[in-house]
Amino acid sequence: MQSVSEVNKGYFGEFGGSYVPEELQKVLDYIEENFLKYKDDPQFIEEYKYYMKEYVGRETPLTFAKNLTEKLGGAKIYLKREDLNHTGAHKINNVVGQILLAKRMGAKRIIAETGAGQHGVATATACAMFGMECVIYMGKEDTERQALNVFRMELLGAKVVPVDKGQGRLKEAVDEALNDLIANYKNTFYLIGSAVGPHPYPSMVKHFQAIISEESKRQILEKEGKLPTAVIACVGGGSNAIGSFANYIDEKDVRLIGVEPAEAPTLTEGVPAVLHGYKCFTLLDEKGEPMPTYSIAAGLDYPGVGPEHSFLKDSGRAEYVTVSAKDALEAFQTLSKTEGIIPALESSHAVAHAIKIAGQMSKDDILIVNVSGRGDKDVEQVFKMFNK
Ligand SMILES: *Cc1c(COP(=O)(O)O)cnc(C)c1O
Repeated sequence: MQSVSEVNKGYFGEFGGSYVPEELQKVLDYIEENFLKYKDDPQFIEEYKYYMKEYVGRETPLTFAKNLTEKLGGAKIYLKREDLNHTGAHKINNVVGQILLAKRMGAKRIIAETGAGQHGVATATACAMFGMECVIYMGKEDTERQALNVFRMELLGAKVVPVDKGQGRLKEAVDEALNDLIANYKNTFYLIGSAVGPHPYPSMVKHFQAIISEESKRQILEKEGKLPTAVIACVGGGSNAIGSFANYIDEKDVRLIGVEPAEAPTLTEGVPAVLHGYKCFTLLDEKGEPMPTYSIAAGLDYPGVGPEHSFLKDSGRAEYVTVSAKDALEAFQTLSKTEGIIPALESSHAVAHAIKIAGQMSKDDILIVNVSGRGDKDVEQVFKMFNK
């Protein structure tokens, strides 16, 4: 049985928690205390909603994909349009929420780590607007592969620090960010970009991304007068998926389907282990080290996954499936051609699964597919793949 203190430390079944050195635990406790203090504060909520509307551009539409629905001849497909947010994806919802919290805590400086650069760009963007100093840690190899995103972050006023320890990848960047946090926590807030990491981060990220399903639930009830048959979202660390699921978890008749890339099938093939300070399903190699993964969608390329997804899988409340790179690429083109919407390669995995199952469902069924981001960032990559 779990003790109360463990429950308070953010366990979802056996998953989650906080496996960190004592000096870091003190900082996490301080963040948790402030998150709990402000999350339901009416003024805080009002401020968050203000920026969601005026800066991010919410609410995002729930678009009926009429052409795709007719083409497949089964379930009605609705698209939750996170691609229409400022900066082109869902990440900004969480970034703005955490920066507002950091400001309440008196922080003047935001640090973050980024692999492909998407979270770094969202963080640098909001820091520019809120007048916060911004430092982004990035593996040296990643800074070279993502030179354009490095330039974008610098254009937005952020300082990008290349980390060349170890393999010069995301893991080393996370370690540097944690060292910075421990040394500077009095004026610094560490902004994590997905529903991962030690408590309270997974709960905090879910809280700020839940706006996706808060809106989609209201929207589908307005449009259809009933709840969807299923909600489908891609899963990297799991933030857009947990935000898309949040307001349906207690609606037992709504199926929740998370889609992973076949090349990083954390929930489908992983084993429970502690990674980056929390317990989750993880892909490990023979030596017990996190396995290097490769997905065509940079945002899905992570050997771990949020603890709440690990629990939703274990408890059977949500289903997790995989989609191959080939099917995702096909969906990328299909949605572009049928609806005039170019989805991010990450989101294309969710679209691909919807395409797989919609035709076998009845016309009374409704699918909500979360389009986590727009595909403009991926067009050049896909162009190169097609011209090889
Ligand atoms: C980062 C990203 C993802 C993956 O992150 P999650 O935390 O799993 O949501 C998915 N889609 C897009 C467009 C992204 O930028």
